[in-house]
Order: sequence, then structure tokens, then C-alpha cells
Amino acid sequence: MLSAGWPLLRLMTTGVPTADSAAIRLRLRQHARGALLGLALGDALGATVEFMTPREIAATHGCHAQIRGGGWLRLAPGAVTDDTGMALALADAWLLNAHAPAAEDYARAFDAWMRSKPVDIGHTVRRALLRFRQTGQACVPPSDEAGNGATMRCAPLALVLLGAPPDTLATATLAQARVTHHNALTDAATLTVVNMVQAGLHAGGTPAGIRAVMAQAHLLAQRFPLFRFRTRPVMNPSAYIVDSLRVVLQAIDLHDSFEGALIEAVNRGGDADTTGAITGAIMGALLGEAALPERWLKALAPAVRQRCGEAADALVARSPAWRRA
Ligand code: MN
Ligand code: MN
Repeated sequence: MLSAGWPLLRLMTTGVPTADSAAIRLRLRQHARGALLGLALGDALGATVEFMTPREIAATHGCHAQIRGGGWLRLAPGAVTDDTGMALALADAWLLNAHAPAAEDYARAFDAWMRSKPVDIGHTVRRALLRFRQTGQACVPPSDEAGNGATMRCAPLALVLLGAPPDTLATATLAQARVTHHNALTDAATLTVVNMVQAGLHAGGTPAGIRAVMAQAHLLAQRFPLFRFRTRPVMNPSAYIVDSLRVVLQAIDLHDSFEGALIEAVNRGGDADTTGAITGAIMGALLGEAALPERWLKALAPAVRQRCGEAADALVARSPAWRRA
């Protein structure tokens, strides 16, 4: 009884952050940093084995569990790819604007990222951004293509809109998605990942938090049976969002640890940097920065580690949940 009335009383009497709210904010920041650093770790780990089959991975690496670069992009150890690059561009769309970004703001941020000559860029994303440059139209028309590009980059939205009304969250999620993707399956998947990241941020790594995260996955599978994941393991996933996300959901369903889930996802091969990035964002949000293996954080490119941490701090500090803490 006392605890239910206490936050309001505190606000009425002081209006300034107390030790209690400082603790809440510290926890929010640790889990927000877990989400963006987790995304980058999954990208960096998975990129080494992107487009390999599980059999090829096993023959080359045994169990792939070290961030070592290489892969088809011949990455430097600790380098990341378009998954992290576009997520940071999405973060910039918020952090460089005082207002909530519209589709045009996301398009400009993604275009600025494309101009920075990233190591890789998906076909769907490139085509959409070239069209934006030529026509100024920020949104693509409906398409049968259901790639994973709008989903891989969505985690920053979950941070900045933590505690926002569901319709605000849905509008922003679809606005960023529309710049490159317009498909019912990618919409549903992206909203689900944003909701899973937020469930993790809210509840932390408690059993209730894990259930809240998985509840979002089960909701998706109910509404779109294509996403059912308690089935045979998906191997060698393509960039088709149904394949990619089913790997992510299976990895999270099977493992309680950040490390276990990430190793599970990337060793399935295929679009491994992207399944790694999405798995890392969700598990990092749930378990927080402290749960990320130190050997992986040390292996991540220092500039990437710093940018992800700073972006996470700034995004969550702008969220309604932060202001209410
Ligand atoms: Mn990538
Ligand atoms: Mn990929």
C-alpha cells in the first residue's frame, strides 16, 4: 500500500530525483546499454559466419564463439556491419532532432549513413534510399518482399519511447520501417521486437521479465502462425523476416544467458549477423550490460562500444519512463 502511493507523494513533496529514482534510472541505463551493446556484439559475432551453413561453420570454427572479424566482408576483428550502422543512424534521427522524427527524418539519417560508405548494405535498403534521393519520397509502397532490414535496426526506438503510449510506439516503429520496408510480416515482426526489448527494459532479468519478453513472441505466433517457433530448429536462415526471426525466438526460448542465446543464433548460420544483432538487443535489454561477456566487449571495436553506450544513455534519458522515474 505504502509503495503504491509513494512515487506520487515524492513527486508532490519534492519534485526532484531521490535516491529511489536514481536507482531506477541506473537500472534503466544499464539495460538500455545492454540492448545497444548487445545488438553490436551479435552483429560483430555473427558477421564472421554470415552466409555460411551450420556445417561449414562447424568445419571452420567448431562452435563459433569468438569475435574475430573476417567473414565474407573480411572485417577487422570487432568491426560491425549495417545492422549496427543503421541502428545508430536511427538513434541519430532522434538525438539530432528536438522533435520526434517523421519518416523524412529517418530517411535522411539512413541516407547519411549510406553516404558514409558502410561495409555492406542490403539490396532493399539501397534501392529505397536511392529512390529517396531521387524523388524525396521517404516511404516505399507496399511490397511482397519481407526482408529483415527494418527489424534489425529497431532497438533504439524501444529505448527512447520506453513508457510511451502504445500507439505512439507503433507509429514511430512503422515510420522508420516504411523508409525501406512495407509489408505486413515485417511490420508485425518489428513491432514484436520493439515490444520484446521494452519488456526486457521494464522487468529486467527476473523470471517475470523473461515471461513478459516471451509473451510478445507467443502473441506474434498466435496472430501470424508463420512465426511459430516451437518447431524444428530453423537452420541457415535467409534474410526473409520469418526465417530470421524464428531463429531469434528459438535462441531466446532455449537459453537464459546472453552468451548462450547469441552462440545458438549465430551458429545456425545464414543471415547470422542479423539474427545475432536482434537476439543481442533483446537479451541485452533483458539482462543488462553486466550480463554481456567481458571478452566480447573487449573485442568490440572501441569506437563502436563507445557510440553504442553513449547513444543508449542519451536515448533512454529522453524516454517517458526516465522522466517518470
Ligand atoms: Mn549486416
Ligand atoms: Mn545480415
